[in-house]
Amino acid sequence: SIMPATLSAISNGARHGILFKGGVHLENLGNLQAIALDKTGTLTKGKPEVTDLVLRKDVNEADFLQYVASIENYSNHPLASAIVRYTKNKYSTELLKPENMEDISGYGVQAYLDGVQWKVGKAEFVGREEVEQFQNGIALDFAKQGKTIVFAKDNKGIAGIITLKDVVRSETITAIEALKQEGIYTIMLTGDGEKTANAIASESHVDAYIADCLPETKVDEVKRLKEQFGTVAMVGDGINDAPALATASVGIAMGEGTDVALETADVVLMKNDLPRIAEAVKLSKKMNRIIK
Ligand code: ADP
Ligand code: MG
Repeated sequence: SIMPATLSAISNGARHGILFKGGVHLENLGNLQAIALDKTGTLTKGKPEVTDLVLRKDVNEADFLQYVASIENYSNHPLASAIVRYTKNKYSTELLKPENMEDISGYGVQAYLDGVQWKVGKAEFVGREEVEQFQNGIALDFAKQGKTIVFAKDNKGIAGIITLKDVVRSETITAIEALKQEGIYTIMLTGDGEKTANAIASESHVDAYIADCLPETKVDEVKRLKEQFGTVAMVGDGINDAPALATASVGIAMGEGTDVALETADVVLMKNDLPRIAEAVKLSKKMNRIIK
């Protein structure tokens, strides 16, 4: 049965925008040793904007964007939406209908346009070697600025790159510092590459980060953290975070996240309000003292 102290803490939480799907989750937060956080949409706003375009010499910008946007139009990744939005704003061209479109989760998209195969996505997806040859590895400079680079390859190699930047939420640093103050180890997990991950991790003040995570890698990391630390929370917003949310001692979803994340989580931050986590930890510690 649920203790009166727990009940009052849960209803207090709900009034302040943090929803617990059971008293045990609130109690667990008081014992939290480590917290893993997804990058895109959790530490950052999750609404990336196109910042730079670098094209191969023979490539025309309007054509390039029309092709890439036509393919990305069939993906629902936040990067894809940003590229389509940018293209439509800059050129009022009609989008084309690609053939054999494939969306490969965590890597990118591929399709045929006018009989030519296009691959649009991360370096590992289009080919590391070609990426390094493209403009003397210019992509590295962008990655160091915390930008995500989308590579677009046609039948002649990399046709161009589109860089996008997603800004860290204004309350992220406060939230991370408050968790560290409670003695909790903070670690960022992301599908993005090493250099971009490094830049966003230092902007966010997290203790550590792991780049190039596939959804399964996030699960493995949460398992490893549980072995090392004990009680571990995972915070995320995407479909790709759901398995890790289920694996954590406490799964925490961003309120504006996808339905799957909201259903899987034990705790929901109704207004995406990250600082509420540390407040709930403090509340839980106080409550656990009253119960004992
Ligand atoms: P995150 O964990 O950062 O939310 P994802 O696991 O969704 O990232 O994707 C990992 C990486 O794969 C992205 O950073 C991007 O480089 C690439 N990617 C995935 N889907 C697409 C797409 N539709 N268009 C371009 N790039 C993509
Ligand atoms: Mg995300």
